[in-house]
Amino acid sequence: MEKIVQPLLKWFETHQRELPWRKDRQPYHVWVSEIMLQQTRIEAVKKYYARFMEELPDVESLSLVSEDRLLKLWEGLGYYSRAKNLKKAAQMIMAEYHGVFPDSYEKIIKLSGIGEYTAGAIASVCFNEKVTAVDGNVLRVMARLSGSKENVLLPQTKEKFKKELQKILPEQSGKFNEALMELGETVCLPNGSPLCRECPLLEYCVSYRDKLTGEIPVRIKDIRRKKEEKTILILSCNGRIAIEKRLQKGLLSGMYQFPNTEGFCTEEALKAKLQPLKISFLGKAKHIFSHIEWYMQGYFLEIAEPSEKYLWVTPQELTEQYALPTAFQPFWKKCHSLPDSFIK
Ligand code: SF4
Repeated sequence: MEKIVQPLLKWFETHQRELPWRKDRQPYHVWVSEIMLQQTRIEAVKKYYARFMEELPDVESLSLVSEDRLLKLWEGLGYYSRAKNLKKAAQMIMAEYHGVFPDSYEKIIKLSGIGEYTAGAIASVCFNEKVTAVDGNVLRVMARLSGSKENVLLPQTKEKFKKELQKILPEQSGKFNEALMELGETVCLPNGSPLCRECPLLEYCVSYRDKLTGEIPVRIKDIRRKKEEKTILILSCNGRIAIEKRLQKGLLSGMYQFPNTEGFCTEEALKAKLQPLKISFLGKAKHIFSHIEWYMQGYFLEIAEPSEKYLWVTPQELTEQYALPTAFQPFWKKCHSLPDSFIK
């Protein structure tokens, strides 16, 4: 395995992509980008990252931002607990380290929302500490290089590769970790389509030699998600739309949503209950969270009297000030194309 170190570092020098958070490799920049990248592609993250940094350029500003504003800045990235943990960690850094980002793996991993991979990435990339940073890209590269058919989703497989990597980590540990991730993201691509001809490690790769790149990595998932059905109601009255704040705990906590009910309601049932002036079906949509799947249908209803249960906002206020989870967006978008819609 140690044979891969030099060719990989050399390749990285000339092939690394220019990314906003690579300009200075400051811990705050690397940290925020790593958290955003956990569930989102690099190209999509770039615009969220720029917006976030413009408004919250350092640990202190992040520690002071209001939750509503933070969630608005995070809107579209999903997994909102990540944003809340960022703020919590920023508050810890202000309280325990006077606003200076901690400089060792042991300290970094104690911050809210930071796991082994992110701590390893920050400690190695920003402080050159000799620790590994093993994400899905690195696992794929390691499994293919070694020709391993072990399930990469199992913790023991990850541990095995971490140990192997720890043995060969060079002095430039940050560069090496980044290079492995970059190779996974740009050359050793998932779904059986790696660009082996462009790979600096081709001569050491067992999967390439044995024509196993289509079978490796082996990923066997065991996910049983709870399924829930919902009817989403976009209630309008006098040019305003009803929204409500979700509970402070649990899924999408603290975000705003359209009123909704469990199960699929029929148009007749909604007419009888709400007596709308107008009603339009907005179609169906599905949203998958890590442990729950929502199967939704939506209705746009114009009603005569605004209920005090809800917050009534203009479409512009909703778009600019309130964080609306991605799950509800298809219905909101559909409202824009309704005949005679006041929503622009
Ligand atoms: S040779 Fe192909 S399969 Fe092997 S590490 Fe390189 S890109 Fe991945």
